[in-house]
Amino acid sequence: MSSTFVIDPPAVISLPVTGESRRFAVNRIYCVGRNYADHAREMGHDPDREPPFFFMKPANSIVTDGKDMAYPKLSNDVHHEIEMVVAIGKGGANISAENALDHVYGYGVGLDMTRRDLQGEAKKMGRPWDTGKAFDQSAPCGEITPASKFGHPSKGGVKLLVNGEVRQEGDLNQLIWNVPDTIAYLSTLFTLEPGDLIYSGTPAGVGPVKKGDLLEGSVEGLSDLKIKIV
Ligand code: MN
Repeated sequence: MSSTFVIDPPAVISLPVTGESRRFAVNRIYCVGRNYADHAREMGHDPDREPPFFFMKPANSIVTDGKDMAYPKLSNDVHHEIEMVVAIGKGGANISAENALDHVYGYGVGLDMTRRDLQGEAKKMGRPWDTGKAFDQSAPCGEITPASKFGHPSKGGVKLLVNGEVRQEGDLNQLIWNVPDTIAYLSTLFTLEPGDLIYSGTPAGVGPVKKGDLLEGSVEGLSDLKIKIV
């Protein structure tokens, strides 16, 4: 028992880093909504009209590569959303798009898991999305690949296989708000801090998962993410 805290402090949530024994400590998780035109359309929205919008997940919703994700409670319609994840290494507010990539430590492959039924209900009632988006184990994320060694990807395939079948496929060059623009915009709303993650949005093809499914996500040039639903 700690002599400083009245309860045991929460553990630091972290992700492995490619080619490093040290890990990336996770602070906050921001997610961009509807950032690929074909996904915006499949959700019934006009992709040309909207500035970016954001929602959050708690850091402890991370599931690391190779781990199981328990099918969440109180939902019968849990969806996969494959996304590239931007890992912030240097904080700041009102960051310009020109300087934005200087704030990026690296990139990973993530799944923005969604209780679509609860999210749909929240949308209908004009309520927050937290129960649909920010539940336990809702943020699987793979190894972080440092930009210092592998650069900043602005194009390349984003793909999700479920049980070996292609379910989602897109390209980073289809992002409505690219990584520099997203960081610039987000940093006007929040002061970014080291350890923050940004889930950059999902291409079309979102759909339900079931117990026993193996999800294999990839972004060209980054380490794959494998998660089993149990
Ligand atoms: Mn998403």
